[in-house]
Amino acid sequence: MLQITVDEDKCTGCGACIDICPKTHKIWRMNSRNKAEVIDLTFCHVCTICASVCNFGAILIQR
Ligand code: SF4
Ligand code: SF4
Repeated sequence: MLQITVDEDKCTGCGACIDICPKTHKIWRMNSRNKAEVIDLTFCHVCTICASVCNFGAILIQR
């Protein structure tokens, strides 16, 4: 099962992953701690771009 997790200790809240995701508003939000958070993976097509643009290695994609 597809899982995308954000390591909040590494996430700086730069927003690059959210900006680049083709389905950004359906999948991502910035949470109250100013960290990127996945809300729904229904529309994720596992392009893995979000993990690629994160310069901090905070995003882990597992399937
Ligand atoms: S690109 Fe990485 S550091 Fe920036 S908001 Fe996304 S997970 Fe956080
Ligand atoms: S893998 Fe692609 S579609 Fe899925 S959350 Fe990341 S950027 Fe968005």
